[in-house]
Amino acid sequence: MRYEAERTAVVSTARELFERDLVAGTSGNVSLQVEDDLVAITPHGTRYETMQPTDIILVDLQGDVVEGDLQPSVETAIHLRAIAARRDVTAVVHSHPLYASMFALAHRPIPALIDEFVVECGAEIPCAGYAISGTDDLAQNVVAALGAFGRAALMVNHGLVVAHTDLDHCLALTAAIDRTAHIVLGAESLGGAVPLPAEAANLYTAVYEYKVKEAKGET
Ligand SMILES: [Zn+2]
Repeated sequence: MRYEAERTAVVSTARELFERDLVAGTSGNVSLQVEDDLVAITPHGTRYETMQPTDIILVDLQGDVVEGDLQPSVETAIHLRAIAARRDVTAVVHSHPLYASMFALAHRPIPALIDEFVVECGAEIPCAGYAISGTDDLAQNVVAALGAFGRAALMVNHGLVVAHTDLDHCLALTAAIDRTAHIVLGAESLGGAVPLPAEAANLYTAVYEYKVKEAKGET
């Protein structure tokens, strides 16, 4: 089997999403770029508890299946477009975390009001425009919301996408975004979350953007 280590990493990430309650049932999907024009991605509608490295599908950047017996995830276009659009993106995780999804349903970006969080994801997690699940329109909307620097975007009325340099960062950021959404929601009930001072927000955003540029090899 080609790319056994990479397939195993995709399965482990997917299983951890499930075990940490960041997805439910067979929802969500995980991908990892294994060559310039080859991406390993989770199959459609397969239980995480029993998913095996052999279930992982290899697709090219056009979405054609190169290897695998199952159907690739219905959201494959999001993964491929995000990887193709950004040199620093080699792994993508789409999830349905509880609190981040609440913001997605309310069409509200998740503001980065915790200083450490700004360094990890920039000023906010923006909302990508709505399109039907599984369409290329949705993939294009997500990539537009990610832009040149974004690490994550909310899919309105749906869930969350994180696009990063590797699977560990994708998983960690998915969990951090959901935790932040929970904290912001709690602060709202205490009278509203107070933004960071502009000077601090600008400094942390600059650090964040530098890290993204570094990952792109632009520094
Ligand atoms: Zn979904």
